Amino acid sequence: MDWIRSWKSTLFLLLEDIPLHLRKLVVSISLDGTSATTIIVDSTTGEPLWRPLLYNESCSDALPTVKSIAPANHTVCTGSSTLCKLVSWWNMVDSDKKLATLLHQADWLLWLLHGNLGVTDYNNALKVGYDPELDSYPHWLLAQPYSQFLPSVKAPGTPIGFLKENVKTKYGFPKDCVVCTGTTDSIAAFLAAQATQPGKAVTSLGSTLAVKLLSTSRIDDARYGVYSHRLDDKWLVGGASNTGGAVLRQIFTDEQLEHLSEQIDPMKTSPLDYYPLPTVGERFPVADPNMAPRLHPRPKSDVDYLHGILESIARIEANAYGLLKDLGATQVEEVFTAGGGAKNAKWIKIRQRVLGLPVSPAIQTQAAYGAALLALKGAQQCVQGV
Ligand code: ADP
Repeated sequence: MDWIRSWKSTLFLLLEDIPLHLRKLVVSISLDGTSATTIIVDSTTGEPLWRPLLYNESCSDALPTVKSIAPANHTVCTGSSTLCKLVSWWNMVDSDKKLATLLHQADWLLWLLHGNLGVTDYNNALKVGYDPELDSYPHWLLAQPYSQFLPSVKAPGTPIGFLKENVKTKYGFPKDCVVCTGTTDSIAAFLAAQATQPGKAVTSLGSTLAVKLLSTSRIDDARYGVYSHRLDDKWLVGGASNTGGAVLRQIFTDEQLEHLSEQIDPMKTSPLDYYPLPTVGERFPVADPNMAPRLHPRPKSDVDYLHGILESIARIEANAYGLLKDLGATQVEEVFTAGGGAKNAKWIKIRQRVLGLPVSPAIQTQAAYGAALLALKGAQQCVQGV
């Protein structure tokens, strides 16, 4: 698969998709990309020097080196981190490495639009080791020879430059249209929900259950895979459990889920206590690689069974927010919901009872909407002359 070609052509197809009369109104552009998808490019031409290393690719060959330079349990100490990808490339390539720049997927695509090579945002840069609290790369990273390839870092939604002349004229965008730094997919999806106050959270009920909470304090705990992204003067704290919709799909079809859910009385407490997992192992809010799924006893009634499973997942969600608080995050006050499970009104009521908090579906859940909000932030900075 030629990822680079496909990403590039998709980007320009998307620009073409914008109706002509709307293109004239676009004053600012931003986009999100998959975190830790890494492209090493020629720093003069921007051409990739190596195939892109995808977000889930593990470069565990580089892990011993990375672990020897980074603080214990740092976010970069996992084979799929951007830093492991950089070190792996550095060790693998013999030829002249002087003229290289590391970019994340979003940075590279944005570069196609603004043409200033070597800029990223502090959300994408977290997994290469950037310290968003110090607002700089840490000294242990800067001491490495490959640190010369690291891009400069700005806040997400910062104007980088005007849209390239040839893109403007070809597609009909205004002459003062700016291009702004982006963010990662999952942060963009959080931004879409517009949970802008500390204590507001978004639970994603997709294949897995992921929670994200806006907090005034930063928490990181590698045991649970919990880490914090900076969002201006606040922190976006997140963790992901292995429970979620994948387990539901192992047992019920989406049609059955809908039909059976309708018959659940969400005000009634289910006596069934499960720990629904698709396979052995849990990371958050309990770190136990040997935890076995618990989905028995199965009652005769499928409605009761589903009720028990949905309520058990709700308890895991409550424990997830409880653990974030115990680790020092702001207490959760309100939960918005995204993902396939968000449309289940009965589950929302069950979760509301179990969490003891207001729970509602997020009005916007598309990451693209979050990226558009970043573009808006950049446009406002231009107006204010920041
Ligand atoms: P992902 O993008 O992580 O694959 P989605 O956000 O598309 O997941 O959500 C898919 C999940 O939603 C499936 O695992 C499915 O079990 C679950 N799902 C679909 N319909 C319902 C429903 N009515 N109630 C609860 N969960 C549902």
